[in-house]
Amino acid sequence: MKTLIVYAHPEPLSFNAAMKNQAVEVLTAAGHQVQVSDLYALKFDPAGGPVDFIERDDASCFRYQREQIHATSSDLFVPQLKAEMDKLVWADLVIFQFPLWWFSLPAILKGWVDRVFAMGFSYTPTERFETGIFRGKRAMLAFTTGGPPASYGPDGKNGDLDVLLRHVQYGMFRFVGMDVLPPFIAYGAARVTPEQRAAYLQAYRERLLQLETIAPLEFHQAVGVI
Ligand code: FAD
Repeated sequence: MKTLIVYAHPEPLSFNAAMKNQAVEVLTAAGHQVQVSDLYALKFDPAGGPVDFIERDDASCFRYQREQIHATSSDLFVPQLKAEMDKLVWADLVIFQFPLWWFSLPAILKGWVDRVFAMGFSYTPTERFETGIFRGKRAMLAFTTGGPPASYGPDGKNGDLDVLLRHVQYGMFRFVGMDVLPPFIAYGAARVTPEQRAAYLQAYRERLLQLETIAPLEFHQAVGVI
């Protein structure tokens, strides 16, 4: 299995770094190939726009999706984006490793999706969800939170985490056709005891060894035409 870990944390001594490092070690030891996109180390610019393209289809007015389609067919993405796209095509499994920030992805990782999941390259009007371009690939969120599990339950103050994650798991991964594995969550990573953190890493080790066989999530999808 070829795994791409898209890693978004600014601190190499963080718990997120520990999870990322462990994933590299465990998957490599199990005979898998792993690549890491360390977005802070790459100084990845999350602000998508004209900067994405070597040359524009329409220099007079910028329309992002139009330019993405043109760049896909004419090979006009800048080298940093092309490199990320090549890794995505290469991967059988994509892991996003990040701390939950404002109930969502850190901006650097959201920007990676904006720019790398480009129209034409990762989806078209007729190639989405079950007809998506990346059908057959698997994807998983691996992340830490500040809040404890109870705050993310259906009655929790923060709201149901399944609902909060839908824009990523369904709106990004599933949208481009990927099968989405259940997320691995280290709740309250900075607040729990060292023993609990060790238990998280052990549980993550076990999860990493099941990634080829674990059943993907089922999503409720309206039978709409659009
Ligand atoms: P760190 O603080 O880096 O690490 C936690 C502990 O793990 C440290 O004591 C560290 O020393 C230790 N550690 C490191 N490596 C290892 C190892 N190998 N083994 C054992 N221990 C180790 N939280 C929410 O719940 N919801 C939000 O919406 C939210 N929004 C936020 C927005 C922003 C902008 C910020 C900055 C924070 C937000 N938070 C939120 C909190 C955030 O999710 C947590 O701070 C983060 O998830 C903690 O993970 P970390 O990797 O940064 O932890």
